[in-house]
Amino acid sequence: MLRFLAIPFLPFVLAFSAPAPAASARDETRELELLVSDHPKKAARDAQAWLAEGQRTRNRHLELKGLRLQALAFEQVEDTERLLEVALRGIALARELDYPVAEVQFLAARGTARMLEGKYADAARDYEDASRLALQNKLEDDVARVNINRSQLFLTLGRIPESLDSAMRAYSHFELRGDSYAMALSLSALANVHSRDTASAADLSRAAELHQRSLELLGSNAGRYDLSTDYFNLGTVYLRLKDRDKARGYFEKSLDASRGLEDPVGEAYVHHRLGTLAREQGQPKEALAFQDKALAVFKDKGNPVMELRTQLARAEVLSVLDRRKETLEALDSARVLYEKLQSPRLQSMLHEVAADIYARFGDYEKAFAETKALREAERLREEIAREERSAELQARFELRQKEAENALLRSRERESEARNLALVLSLLLSLVVLGALGAALAGYVMRHRQVSTLAARDDLTGIANRRSILEYARQQRRRRISDGDALTIAVIDLDHFKQINDDLGHAVGDKVLVAFAQTCTQQLRAGDRLGRFGGEEFLLVMPGADLAQVPYVFERLRRAMHDRPVEGVPADRKVTFSLGATEARGLADDLESLIQRADRALYRAKEAGRDRFETG
Ligand code: GH3
Ligand code: MG
Ligand code: MG
Repeated sequence: MLRFLAIPFLPFVLAFSAPAPAASARDETRELELLVSDHPKKAARDAQAWLAEGQRTRNRHLELKGLRLQALAFEQVEDTERLLEVALRGIALARELDYPVAEVQFLAARGTARMLEGKYADAARDYEDASRLALQNKLEDDVARVNINRSQLFLTLGRIPESLDSAMRAYSHFELRGDSYAMALSLSALANVHSRDTASAADLSRAAELHQRSLELLGSNAGRYDLSTDYFNLGTVYLRLKDRDKARGYFEKSLDASRGLEDPVGEAYVHHRLGTLAREQGQPKEALAFQDKALAVFKDKGNPVMELRTQLARAEVLSVLDRRKETLEALDSARVLYEKLQSPRLQSMLHEVAADIYARFGDYEKAFAETKALREAERLREEIAREERSAELQARFELRQKEAENALLRSRERESEARNLALVLSLLLSLVVLGALGAALAGYVMRHRQVSTLAARDDLTGIANRRSILEYARQQRRRRISDGDALTIAVIDLDHFKQINDDLGHAVGDKVLVAFAQTCTQQLRAGDRLGRFGGEEFLLVMPGADLAQVPYVFERLRRAMHDRPVEGVPADRKVTFSLGATEARGLADDLESLIQRADRALYRAKEAGRDRFETG
């Protein structure tokens, strides 16, 4: 629950990281968490001492521990540059020591650093990698923690349903575990979703409630850092509700806490907001002084997103003071920053503020141009959102249909008419529910309302589901092509799967699917991803790989599957699969044609006798 954007990921991870015995490690960890939350600067100094000691005595684990505490501290005070540096060192060391818990932590820390730098796609990739690694190692708490980070990232990108979903998942997980500290952080993230850009007054009131509840959960021994962020966020919510006295009260509390922390970035956030408050109360000179103070810190600490926002706030106040030259300079600086960030939300903000300012200066032509650009930017944003929603809807429907077919097949096996009837009834019911969901999703597109979103994982196998593997493929295609990098995708279909079902039963068929998904996933490189495309068909996305690598990939998977026993399948009956692969060939080669080509190659592999691959 870092202010405004980022969320500290690290405090939780420490709970599972210390190499000491479980119970005492937990206690020690709480101490560390509090130490960091109460005084990150001091914690950073302690961490530095451990680090030096670890290096001196060649104690790699002490060195790693020092790095982790350091990352934790830098994340809280948003020292982006040093956080990135520590995360990079940490990732390398964690890998060297084969210590996945720490690697998860550092991957997420790098994600946060990149998010603060405005590199959202990179941040998303780091969070995904962290989450996947945590999942592979059954570190469920860490999966939930990464979900808190993701919630903030989605929020920043304006992807509200996903943001809400991630925060909810984290909260439910920690509620089950009875971890009140982590619950408090999840609630704070949830509150941030409620106070999003487009929040209604009711949403904002709910956000205030959630922050209050988070403060309660933190309790009396809360660290100053956690307090300062909750106070800050509460102040921001009340500012937007136009309850200025309450807002000022919370900002002052937050400022107090930040000062105690020697946390200039925390202070800068509050100054930025106090500037807004002053401007709204007709005190432009005071407002400018606050924004100037904030700007210096954001510049110094490498937070271009807040630097841009602060420049826009300055431009606004300067224009009110009729200091034209400086106004235009501030606006230009904001534009230069925007070029580096390319966030659709920031773009809208930029045009909106510029339009206001030009109108104020009587330059109506420019004001009109900015308004037009604003409308165009908004339209684009909406279009992207709509595209994503409808792809999601389509995928969900297809998957539902397949699930329904499977359920029917299963019930036929039982040959029970009564059950069949019940099943058909429940199928009908689920179609009704689906219809309602569809309407809700469509409604979201129209009205930008929040709805709960879909899970990203396939229920049976636990790997990416159709929607999410398609999204991954789409995103990788875009990124790889623009970077001039290779991308190979493959469609994999199990051979004679119907026969397995028929001979051994549907339940064994299910086990084969799970075994296949697990075995393959274990064989993949970081960055490669397998998703269930439907039924016994899978989609494999391999960023950075070209067709020359397909034979090796196929052989590795084939061997792994060959060696893997599956409960209920006789040892002499080997489960095989066929694979069709293709490589992306530039911009015009869209995802649909890629999948089509892979499908045709798969068909050829089947024709040629199965248990083989073809490329196309
Ligand atoms: P081929 O080698 O040509 O691919 O033959 P096949 O039998 O694998 O192909 P086909 O597409 O005819 O059959 C696929 C079968 O997979 C049909 C369906 O009953 C079964 N199936 C689909 N989804 C599931 C599932 O979730 N669980 C189980 N047990 N079976 C499933
Ligand atoms: Mg098939
Ligand atoms: Mg098949």
